[in-house]
Amino acid sequence: KLTFSRRINLIKPSSTMSLTSKANELRALGEDIIVLTVGEPDFDTPGYIKDAGQKAIESGKTKYTSVDGVPELKNAIVNKFKKENDLIFNSDEVIVSSGCKQSIFNLLQVIIDHDDEVLIPGPYWVSYADMVTYAGGKPILIESSYENNFDLNFDFIEKNINDKTKLFMLNSPNNPSGKYFDSTMLRKLAGLLRQHDKIYISSDDIYEHIFWHHEKFQNILNVAPDLKERTIIFNGVSKAYSMTGWRIGYAAGNKEIIKKMKTLQSQSTSCASSVSQYAAISALTQKCEELPKMNDEYKKRHDYVVKELNNISGVTCRETDGTFYVFPSFIEYIKKCQKINNDDELAMYLLNEGKVAVVPGSAFGMPGHLRLSIALDLKNLEKAMDRIKKALNNNE
Ligand code: GLU
Repeated sequence: KLTFSRRINLIKPSSTMSLTSKANELRALGEDIIVLTVGEPDFDTPGYIKDAGQKAIESGKTKYTSVDGVPELKNAIVNKFKKENDLIFNSDEVIVSSGCKQSIFNLLQVIIDHDDEVLIPGPYWVSYADMVTYAGGKPILIESSYENNFDLNFDFIEKNINDKTKLFMLNSPNNPSGKYFDSTMLRKLAGLLRQHDKIYISSDDIYEHIFWHHEKFQNILNVAPDLKERTIIFNGVSKAYSMTGWRIGYAAGNKEIIKKMKTLQSQSTSCASSVSQYAAISALTQKCEELPKMNDEYKKRHDYVVKELNNISGVTCRETDGTFYVFPSFIEYIKKCQKINNDDELAMYLLNEGKVAVVPGSAFGMPGHLRLSIALDLKNLEKAMDRIKKALNNNE
C-alpha cells in the first residue's frame, strides 16, 4: 500500500483546475459544454509579446536564468511598480516565479510555521486555504456576505488576531467576487494591522488591470507606506496580458523575505522559463494597445451577465469592480428548489443538464454561490445564459 505525507493528505486538488479539466474531458468526448470555470482570458497573447518570445528562442535565450529572474525583467518590474503604482522597490526586493501562484506558495512556505494562523477574507481564491494548510498553518476565514457587499468584517478581524496570527492575505480586485477593497477600507485595515507589528500582509494584485472602479487602483502600501517592511505584493502578466500559459508572476517586498523565497525556489523550480521571461519584459515595457480593449470587452460582458442573472428568480448578482468573474448568490433559488440542496449539487446539475461548467462557491469558502468566468465572447455567454435559465426553470 502506498503511503503519503500527512501534509499532502490534508489538501485537495484545486477546484478551478479540476473542474476545467473535467469539462474539457467531456468536450473531448464530443459533449457541447460551455466552460465558465477557469479564470483565463480568451484573447490571444498580444503579437508583440509573442514576437519577443520567438526572438528569445531564436537568439538562444533558452538556458537557466538566475533563480530570481533575469535582471532586465526584474528592472522592468521595478519600473512597473514605480510608474503604475507609485511604489519604489530595489531589484533585490523582487523575485520572478513560474506564475504568481508559485510566488504565493513560496511566501507561505517561508513564513508559516506549524499552527500559525492566516487571516483570509472570504470569498477567497481556491488555493489560498490549501496552500496555508500545506505550509502547516491554519486558514482563518473572515466571512463576508452578499448583503454587505463582501466588505471586510473588522469586528471579526479584531477578535481573531492573536499571538499565532502570522499573515493577512488580501486579494483585490477579488477572485471570485470581483470586489475591490477601496482606499477607505484599506486605510481602516492598515490602522488595525499597524497595531500588530508581527503580522505580515500579502496583497495579490493580479487583477489590477481588469478594473472599472471609479478610484485609481491602490493597494495597501499606497495608503500605508509605513507597512512596507512586512508587506509582500504579488502580481504577474497572466491575466492582464493574456499570458496564463507562459507562467510568469512575481513578488515584491522586504529583501530578507524575498531572499528566503529565492532559496526555496532554487531548491524547487530553479527559475521561471527563460523564454517566457523575455516575453514578459516586452509585456511590461511596451505600450499594450490591447489592454484597454480587453478591459472594455470584459466590462460589456460583465454588464450583460449581471443583468441576465438578476432576471432569474432566486438569483442575485452584484456588479463587480473588476476581474473576469461574477459571483451570484443562488441561496434563494436553492432554498425553494426541492431537488438541489447546495451549490455543489447545483454546479453538477448545470453541467449535466445545462451543459455549462461553473465553479461552486464552496470552493471559495462561500456556499450558496457560483463563480462564472466571463472570459468568453458575448455570443457564447448568451448561449450559456440561455442554457442556465432553461436548466434552472426545468427544475422549479
Ligand atoms: N486563478 C485562476 C482561477 O481562479 C486560474 C486557475 C487557478 O490557478 O486557480 O480560475
